[in-house]
Amino acid sequence: MSNWEKNVRKVVPYVPGEQPHEADMIKLNTNENPYPPSPKAAEAIKRVAEEDTLRLYPDPTAAELVQAIADVYHVSPKQIFVGVGSDDVLAMAFMTYFNSDKPILFPDITYSFYDVWAEEFRIPYKQIPLDENFCIVPEQYFAENHPNGGIVFPNPNAPTGVELSLSAIESILQHNPDVVVIVDEAYVDFGAATAQPLLEKYENLLVVQTTSKSRSLAGMRIGYAIGNEKMISYLNDVKYSFNSYTMNQTTIAAGAAAIRDVEYFRKTVKKVVETREWSKEELKKLGFSFEDSKSNFIFATHKSVPARKIFQALRERHIYVRYFEKPRIDNYLRITIGTREEMQTLFDFLKDYLTESSK
Ligand code: PMP
Repeated sequence: MSNWEKNVRKVVPYVPGEQPHEADMIKLNTNENPYPPSPKAAEAIKRVAEEDTLRLYPDPTAAELVQAIADVYHVSPKQIFVGVGSDDVLAMAFMTYFNSDKPILFPDITYSFYDVWAEEFRIPYKQIPLDENFCIVPEQYFAENHPNGGIVFPNPNAPTGVELSLSAIESILQHNPDVVVIVDEAYVDFGAATAQPLLEKYENLLVVQTTSKSRSLAGMRIGYAIGNEKMISYLNDVKYSFNSYTMNQTTIAAGAAAIRDVEYFRKTVKKVVETREWSKEELKKLGFSFEDSKSNFIFATHKSVPARKIFQALRERHIYVRYFEKPRIDNYLRITIGTREEMQTLFDFLKDYLTESSK
């Protein structure tokens, strides 16, 4: 190694799910929404493209988007932070709030970006095992049991889809008044309860959401955090110390339009949830088992055929699901909920394949 390399910040990057482009593919591997975003988003993008504004810098505060989120969630705009996807919001939040010598806590099976950010920002961390049913054990997060410098977990958890009740979240907050607790609600709109009602009582809570899943805007990259004004101002100070103009003009306009189209959002979410519930029954018939999912994916294991084999067979048929080669979960597949037709094609293939493989 050259001397200069010794001073380089070395990181092992997060590996996102693959983004293949095949005409006949069925893409159920990165929890995208199978339906298009609100048509109002496209209209907004067109409007921006036609105005003579792209030569100017965007509004650094993204006020139009922030106001739309504030209106829809009935909070003050000062309680909203926006970023380039919730990955950006979470990265900024790690950097802002997790500045202690004590380890931050998150589950052993969870969003695999958390340990990457912790490593990158030199934040000590401790992974707390989920129980045998893939549930978070709240007591394990109490400061008296695990002294900590902060807490983060998704609700519902990823990749399991399992929800943690609001009362369990509140118990974690009650036992951690001295650190920031981040609830990553990337999938909350598909049937879990948001922790937003707890914001009034707990000033150390940050709720993070995204337009990538329930609002079908993964391609635009819009995430946001909701917290009290002081929390949000600390987050903005860090963000403005990196890059003032994170949100571009088309993103701001499209995001605001999609967020305001509440009726379209509800209709799309309802379709995904209905397909998920039907898919649970179909998967059971095929010999899969799973914990109950409140997200737009199902994390399933098959009674006789190894997940890795099924994953590869599906891949050859251009049906993409997610497989994690990690302890405790290497016999599971995370299957995003697609359209009913896509799911039917998946089940038809699995029926033939599993019958053949079980012979
Ligand atoms: N949190 C969780 C739990 C996720 O699964 C994802 C999606 N990879 C994200 C955050 C980030 O999503 P985005 O950056 O698209 O908002």
